[in-house]
Amino acid sequence: MILVLLGPPGAGKGTQAKRLQDMRALVQLSTGDMLRAAVAAGSELGQRAGDIMERGELVPDEIVIGLIAERMDADMDGTGFILDGFPRTIGQAEALDKLLGPRGKGVDRVVVIEVDDDALVARIAGRFTCAKCGEGYHDQFKKPKVEGVCDVCGGTNFTRRRDDTEEVVRSRLKAYHAQTEPLIGYYGAQDKVRAVDGMADIETVQKEIDQTLDGA
Ligand code: AMP
Repeated sequence: MILVLLGPPGAGKGTQAKRLQDMRALVQLSTGDMLRAAVAAGSELGQRAGDIMERGELVPDEIVIGLIAERMDADMDGTGFILDGFPRTIGQAEALDKLLGPRGKGVDRVVVIEVDDDALVARIAGRFTCAKCGEGYHDQFKKPKVEGVCDVCGGTNFTRRRDDTEEVVRSRLKAYHAQTEPLIGYYGAQDKVRAVDGMADIETVQKEIDQTLDGA
């Protein structure tokens, strides 16, 4: 199964991808996580991508296509992938088709997580993550049960993404509408798209996504 999660920044793609990874034994591939790791490692690629990410723009197709191709190749014989944040342009979607086609595979399902722009800004500006296990939290909507302590692993260090500010979120949303939303038409023409309401709570969104997969 190759599942693409589409949706604006803050729609919950990462949260849902992590849940699906555990439930369905699929491998989550997040180009955002890969790029942040490259930035943290200070690699040449990370240096190229870092400034672009801080402006909330998309990094060039060839960079993300290279990253994803390497990771998919390593796991191509497994049960499948959840692509979280890739593809984000028509060029990336075409490159993905070229990568999968010769191996007799293709995208099976595209789930669009729909959320209003205004809600996204509030959601993103308050989010933070456990530095140890990656569990996601929010100042308003999902605080740790004990302040300053991760519910999952007991970690006490938390991080915030540098691009989670209101100004950068607005530019990430602009990039989403201009460059990523056209993918709904691209995959819609292949009857692969199902939409879920991303304004619902995390459990409900997960159930809805699950239902779209059982019919895939
Ligand atoms: P994300 O964690 O998916 O929100 O991605 C964070 C940032 O990484 C984005 O705002 C882009 O600058 C960059 N990025 C992640 N995935 C891609 C992609 N598929 N194509 C281009 N840029 C990407």
